[in-house]
Amino acid sequence: MKNNEINSQITCKLCNSEKVTNIELMKFFLCNDCDCIFKKNFSDQKKSLLKENHQNYNSVFMNISKPFKMRFWDLIAEQYVRYLKSKTNMKFKNAIDVGALYGHLVKRLNELGINTKGIEVEKNYIINDVSGMIQHGYFDETYPLHESYDLVCLTQMIYYVKNPVSVIKRAKELLNSSGIVFISTQNPNSSIIQKGKVSLFEDSMNILPSKKNFIDIANQLNMKIVDFTNFKPNIYLDRLKGGGMKSEFVNYLKYHQKKPYEEDPDGHHSFLLLKKT
Ligand SMILES: [Zn+2]
Repeated sequence: MKNNEINSQITCKLCNSEKVTNIELMKFFLCNDCDCIFKKNFSDQKKSLLKENHQNYNSVFMNISKPFKMRFWDLIAEQYVRYLKSKTNMKFKNAIDVGALYGHLVKRLNELGINTKGIEVEKNYIINDVSGMIQHGYFDETYPLHESYDLVCLTQMIYYVKNPVSVIKRAKELLNSSGIVFISTQNPNSSIIQKGKVSLFEDSMNILPSKKNFIDIANQLNMKIVDFTNFKPNIYLDRLKGGGMKSEFVNYLKYHQKKPYEEDPDGHHSFLLLKKT
């Protein structure tokens, strides 16, 4: 932590504690009571993308790097499936992936015989949808309840919303009686985030809930946490270091051998499963 001064005017947006610390450079605050990280002024940046037309950014770099980018997201989706297989019986008839990006997880779940669709707010992703099952939309507490699902996936999106509690509540309302909510998110307790070693925060993020928060949210919503595992996402870390064409290519080669994710209590990605009690 570069700045340990206590900011008395600002209170935690999840637990109202006044014990919050400014995390310098990131314009974000860490709550010393519940461990969440939150932005001082919440914004609707992601939601506002609903109304935006896609920009056609088919630059030369975009076109050359596309196969590497697509493989990157497919390896992430493969890790999600590996995790789900290790922690559940996979007897899902249908599923929905919120924050579906290019549809890699949706495609993989459909290949396993699970009838899956996705929701994505950014049209730039949807135009490259690999699953053919992505709908344009934004998921929050107002998302309509026409169907119910055995598996609701909230993949790397919970920190963009203003109210994670109401979003998880909506996900619960979409569940069949034995259904599961799968969340992949970032872990505010990890040293790499707390020390600000890599710049993980985007302006569009609002609040990053901690394990403590998820336990509280589960209790509030009459849900239970079936599993909570932290991972060191090697593949993300390598990508954050570089980003240019060369590093995309090196990573492309590297992850034919290396494990993209490793279980690590201090890892900055968390996967969790929630069920109704
Ligand atoms: Zn708090």
